[in-house]
Amino acid sequence: MSIETLVETAVKTKRDPRYDILFEPVQIGPVRAKNRFYQVPHCNGAGYKYPNTVAAMRGMKAEGGWGVVNTEFCSIHPVGDPSPTGHARLWTDADIAPNALMVEAVHKNGALAGCETVITGVYSHNRDSREISLSPSPYPSPLGDFPSVARALDRNDIKNIRRWHKEGVLRAKKAGFDIVYLYLCHGISILHDFLSPRINHRTDEYGGSLENRLRLTREILEETRDAVGDKCAIAIRLSLDDVLGDEGLSREEGREAMHMLAEAPDLWDLTAGAVDSITSRFEKENWLEPWLSFVKSVSSKPVVAVGRFTSPDTMASMVKRGLIDFVGAARPSIADPFLPKKIEEGRLDDIRECIGCNICLASQMMVTPSRCTQNPTFMEEWRRDWHPEKVTIGHSSSSILVVGGGPAGLEAAHILGKRGFQVSLAEAGKELGGHLLPVTRLPGLSEWLRVRDYRLGQLQKLTNVEIFLDSQLDAEQILTFGFDHVVLATGSHWRRDGIGRRHVLPIPTNENAVVLAPEQIMTGCEVRDRVIIFDDDHYYMGGILAEVLAKRGHAVTIVTPTPLVSSWTSVTFDQTLIQTKLIELGVEIRTNMDLATIEGDHVTLSCVFTGRKTPIAAGSVVLVTARESNDALYNALMGPNENVPPELKSLAKIGDCLSPGLLAQSIYSAHRYGREFDVATPPLAKLERLLLDQ
Ligand code: ADP
Ligand code: SF4
Repeated sequence: MSIETLVETAVKTKRDPRYDILFEPVQIGPVRAKNRFYQVPHCNGAGYKYPNTVAAMRGMKAEGGWGVVNTEFCSIHPVGDPSPTGHARLWTDADIAPNALMVEAVHKNGALAGCETVITGVYSHNRDSREISLSPSPYPSPLGDFPSVARALDRNDIKNIRRWHKEGVLRAKKAGFDIVYLYLCHGISILHDFLSPRINHRTDEYGGSLENRLRLTREILEETRDAVGDKCAIAIRLSLDDVLGDEGLSREEGREAMHMLAEAPDLWDLTAGAVDSITSRFEKENWLEPWLSFVKSVSSKPVVAVGRFTSPDTMASMVKRGLIDFVGAARPSIADPFLPKKIEEGRLDDIRECIGCNICLASQMMVTPSRCTQNPTFMEEWRRDWHPEKVTIGHSSSSILVVGGGPAGLEAAHILGKRGFQVSLAEAGKELGGHLLPVTRLPGLSEWLRVRDYRLGQLQKLTNVEIFLDSQLDAEQILTFGFDHVVLATGSHWRRDGIGRRHVLPIPTNENAVVLAPEQIMTGCEVRDRVIIFDDDHYYMGGILAEVLAKRGHAVTIVTPTPLVSSWTSVTFDQTLIQTKLIELGVEIRTNMDLATIEGDHVTLSCVFTGRKTPIAAGSVVLVTARESNDALYNALMGPNENVPPELKSLAKIGDCLSPGLLAQSIYSAHRYGREFDVATPPLAKLERLLLDQ
């Protein structure tokens, strides 16, 4: 794609001097970062299987102004093989060239490239390599998804680990990386296993005291320095606290560990807890600060820490108060690869803030290339040539009507408008945002409104986009307006008949039963106790409605055919938090149960294994099973023969109207419509690139 065909609508102004500090260069051992924006290692679900995809994604962040861009978890030996999840690899010299692709893409844009070199320990699945995983003491993998036990390392194994680490960092150096890592957090690496009193029960010089548990780290650090320290900076990524109570590394020991190694690395990359990417529902910006108060007094080496930072004021304050030297970011750099540039150019209202939904992590957990709710171009930089800030200029003078001002309608209008088309957006309600308006009033979900706010802010800058509120349109009106093209983003609604994953036919329901949909609970309708929520959707909605109703003082039972409440949120890393919250709120939880019938004053549950029936009293029933598209308008326009009406050149559906799904999917579908509208290249030609990414 040539640059002449691209358009950026950005208006650049002068950088606010308050943020000058963020653009100071920082020395890291033998290398120098041009500014303080540091993309910490983060997974992307693609890894070594899609080297071009990963290189283009990382290169985009460097283009967007990040001073340091790291790989994800990079396995440097088959004994630490996290297959099938996506990850970078440096097992042999043959892996150097694919990694060099990323390094080149990052260097081209003036950033440093870092490699999170890791040998995993007890965590390893090793499903691909079939090596037996190694650990300080013999334990099964905490993942519980593979029935194997890691073997305790003997002295020869320890020598091998040291040798393999050295060989791995040498390969990283050959690939051109500027920073290599020693990884001591997240319960994933063998070095963290040694540090952890939970896993390390050795009685030799590698176990017992903290000094002993850090021995292997010290040895590997020295050997890494000898091997690559002339060219590469050495970072230690350390857990300051495993947040595991008495079992793991305590806060006191985390602090002590940093004291012991204070000046040994060139950079400290600090974190806490096994999972440090909690959803915004449970954790807000700068959550790590309470752990950081002492770190700059311990070491003169630069410190990076994350905190899902999207506010430049918070970033600058953290640096000015001497808590960090680098603003670490994974998710904010995914949602907006151009975040540093936007701060630099004084375009704060163009920042696409991460909403903390963790769909990016969910994709990694599902073993697919990742995606982002806010940034639909993430991981599509290579295979679709999508640039997060640029679109191709449209060549026709087409006028387009977008019906529906939810996330999909807003996204389509934004992209079409940016491409220069004449766009009108009609929304039935008095406010834009669609289903996000009630959803973001649910507990903890307010940040999701950033999806609307970013797009609305962009639309307000486009003079070729007109917005009409309070405009419920029908087919007749649409055909008389005279638009060339119409795209329907009319959303979806929750079913009231119980059809979903479990039931392909409606759940037998007594006509006197009170059956409610999630929309009614969200708008505060009256319910009668006891409320039964049947969750066959498994994402956040069933669990969060139980929370809402319990907080309103109702007696609530949540019933689900799965073994866990809101089971799909396991991949967004907040399932445990959700179930804990419901238990604490006194919600009765009935898992592995189907809803067989809904009677006037009770429901009948059915065990998913035995089919055994249990009646329980029910004043009202909330069905969270599946959503249906609002496609009546589309059908009315198309008519019984399903032909685009002659008054229009095209008619399309996007977002939930096309197919109800994740918010990320809805925005992606709208974005794609906006990009591909009036473009001759058949999408399939591009898709083939996915298969060729080797
Ligand atoms: P999506 O996630 O696909 O954007 P939403 O349900 O969030 O879907 O948004 C759909 C929006 O479409 C809602 O704001 C709704 O008010 C609006 N809408 C639905 N039907 C019409 C219509 N006939 N005319 C105008 N707006 C409509
Ligand atoms: Fe943030 Fe959600 Fe995008 Fe992940 S998917 S970067 S959490 S907006």
